[in-house]
Amino acid sequence: MNEIVRDKIEANEAWIINHRRALHQIPEKSKEEWKTKEYIKKSLTDLGIEVKEGYYNTGLVGVIYGEQAGRTIGIRFDMDALEMEEKVETEFKSLNKGLMHACGHDGHMAMGLGCAKVLNEMKDQICGVVKLVFQPAEEDATTGGGAQHMIKDGVLSDEPKIEAMVGMHIWPKLKVGEVGSRVGPIMAASDPFNVEVVGKGVHASLPYMGIDPIITASQIIVNLQSVISRNISPFEQGVMSIGIMQGGTQYNTIPERVHFYGTVRSFNEETRLRIHDRMKTVIEKGAEAMNAKAKFNYTFGYPAVINNEKMVKIAKFSTEEMLGEGSYIEVDQPAPGGEDFAFFAKEVPSVFLWLGYGEEEEIHPPHSPHYEFNEAILALGTKVLCKTALEWCRLNK
Ligand SMILES: [Zn+2]
Ligand SMILES: [Zn+2]
Repeated sequence: MNEIVRDKIEANEAWIINHRRALHQIPEKSKEEWKTKEYIKKSLTDLGIEVKEGYYNTGLVGVIYGEQAGRTIGIRFDMDALEMEEKVETEFKSLNKGLMHACGHDGHMAMGLGCAKVLNEMKDQICGVVKLVFQPAEEDATTGGGAQHMIKDGVLSDEPKIEAMVGMHIWPKLKVGEVGSRVGPIMAASDPFNVEVVGKGVHASLPYMGIDPIITASQIIVNLQSVISRNISPFEQGVMSIGIMQGGTQYNTIPERVHFYGTVRSFNEETRLRIHDRMKTVIEKGAEAMNAKAKFNYTFGYPAVINNEKMVKIAKFSTEEMLGEGSYIEVDQPAPGGEDFAFFAKEVPSVFLWLGYGEEEEIHPPHSPHYEFNEAILALGTKVLCKTALEWCRLNK
C-alpha cells in the first residue's frame, strides 16, 4: 500500500502545488474565509467527495467513506490568512491587499486537497471513514479559535463520529524531509491578562493624602515574578511576561489608576490553573495591602496541545514508512506558541506534527511578510497525513 500512496501523491504533486498557488492568491481574514470555503467546496465536489457544511460559518468537512468497515479519523487543515502586506514577488502573489497567507495555511489546505484526491481513489483500501476538516480562524485567539467553535457545531460528534485527529503545521526549525513531534505537550497554552490598579490621585507632594497606584502596581509586578519561580515545580514549565505598563500623565501628580498587560504560557492544565490562582492572590492582596483596588482580567486562550502516545507512535511509523528512516524527529521541547488544534486534542486522541521546511541558509519564519511557502514539502506532508490516517484506520477497524 505504501507504493500506491507514494505513487499517487507524486503523480498529483503539480496538481497540489497549483491549488496552493490559487489559494495563496485569495488570502482572507479569520472568520471571513468565504471565497476560500467556496474554493475548497468546489474542489472537493469536483472530486465527487461529499461535503458537510454548517461548522462555524466558513468551516467545512470532506467525507471519504472507505469500502471496508471501520472507525472514523479526522485530519485538520486551517484556512485563515494574516493581515499584512506580502513582500514576496511571485506570479501568484496575494490579490487581496493587506492580507497574506504568511503562516502556510494555503499549503496546509492544498495538502488537504491532496489527501482528498488520493484517499478518494483508494476507497477500496480504507477501513472506516476519513474526514477532512477545513477549519477557519486558527489565528483568532480573541474569539477562542475556530476549532472550538467547530466542535460546538458538531464537527466531532456528527455521525460518523470522529474518534481521533491529526494536525500538521509547517515548521522552520526542521529541515525539508523531516517531520517532528513528541508525546505530551507540543504547543503551549497561551493566555493574555490585564490588570487595573485603582488608587486615589493626589498632588505628588502630598502622597499620604492619596493612594499611589504606581507604587502598588510596581510591588505587584515584582511579586508576580515569584509565581513562576516559587509556586511552580522545577519540573514544570511556565512563562509570564508583562509587555505594557501604563499610568499617569503628569510628573508631579500621583495618578488614579495604572494598567498593565501581559501573557502567560504553560504546558499543562494544572500548572496553568495554579499560575492563574496565585496571580489572582498576589494581585488582589497586594493591592489590598496598599489600600488600593485591583481588577484582574485573565483570558483562558488556547490550551496546550497535548499529543496522545498511541497517535504519536502511528504518526512516527507512518512518517518513516513514507519519508524513510531518520525522517521522524522526536523533538525534546514543546514550542511556546499557541495553536487551537488543542481543542481537538482535548476531545479525542490526537497528534500534532511539525513539517520541516528549513534549509541550511536563512529562511523566513511564519508571520513574516517575506515568508514563502516551500512547495517541495507539499507532497511530503500529504504522504505523511494520508499514511497516518490509513494506518490508524487499519489498526482500529
Ligand atoms: Zn499557522
Ligand atoms: Zn500563524
